Amino acid sequence: MRINKYRYDGSGPFKLSDYDTGLGEKKPDKKKILAQTEKNVVQIAALQDKLYADSKESVLIILQAMDAAGKDGTIKHVMSGINPQGVDVYSFKQPSSDELAHDFLWRIHSKTPPKGKIAIFNRSYYEDVLVARVRELNKTYQMPQRCTGMSTEKFFDKRYKHIKHYEEFLYDNGCRIVKLFLNVSRDTQKKRFLERIDNPAKNWKFSSSDVKERGLWDEYQKAYSLAIEHTSTKECPWYIIPADKKWFMRYLVSEAVLKALKSCSPQYPTLADEEIAKLGEYKQMLENEDTK
Ligand code: ATP
Ligand code: MG
Repeated sequence: MRINKYRYDGSGPFKLSDYDTGLGEKKPDKKKILAQTEKNVVQIAALQDKLYADSKESVLIILQAMDAAGKDGTIKHVMSGINPQGVDVYSFKQPSSDELAHDFLWRIHSKTPPKGKIAIFNRSYYEDVLVARVRELNKTYQMPQRCTGMSTEKFFDKRYKHIKHYEEFLYDNGCRIVKLFLNVSRDTQKKRFLERIDNPAKNWKFSSSDVKERGLWDEYQKAYSLAIEHTSTKECPWYIIPADKKWFMRYLVSEAVLKALKSCSPQYPTLADEEIAKLGEYKQMLENEDTK
């Protein structure tokens, strides 16, 4: 599977700059990729139906990216075939004062998917080691000295550990996690911001704060690199998805989601013998109705 090239499971060293943002050296055939994406979307929908019926396992898809990498469009396309009853999407914004008054996973936990369902996190608790690290929010938290009175490195090393344990906990309780970093290049981000300014239909997507965050590009790349390095495991790996070409990005996302659903191997529940025998009786009853 091509997707394995973009998977990092914590074994060996990690360097974000080793990962392509574009198509890589062996340029894929766009027509074939689009056709395969369509097939994947259909297969995802079929497996989601079984996942829902089976109700033993759940799938949590985490999307993280710099602005304008295409999180929203990816959700729309890859999940387009899915029964809306089987999937929930949550966007995590700046925490409210109530959320800040709790631990950083508090607002997350009630949004994790119940068995049989898929949840998509558009941003996630990873913001608490990304923007929080870049902006050194650890220095602003209202917490006792024993929690914050340490170097920024130490503070976030602890958070990586908390996240790893939390994900292990979710995994051990029947939740599969698909972590996707949509890896867009600085040049492509600039192009997309300019499009948002030049195209009146896209003006609403432009935000001046996005440009401010862009000014901290290198700091964000470093924060992503550290977060991916420290929170990838065999059970909960990260996928570093090249995001400069949307069609290729969506294809790879569909591959990663499909892989996770397949590994759940959901089955439609089968009925016990006596239930099947009863079905025969009901069938007869219904058929006899017509002859009355
Ligand atoms: P879009 O711009 O496509 O609508 P978005 O995910 O960028 O989607 P915004 O409302 O623009 O949504 O931004 C959300 C902001 O909230 C981001 O800048 C993000 O870094 C910030 N945020 C999310 N979680 C946290 C957190 N735990 N602590 C601080 N900031 C956070
Ligand atoms: Mg934004």
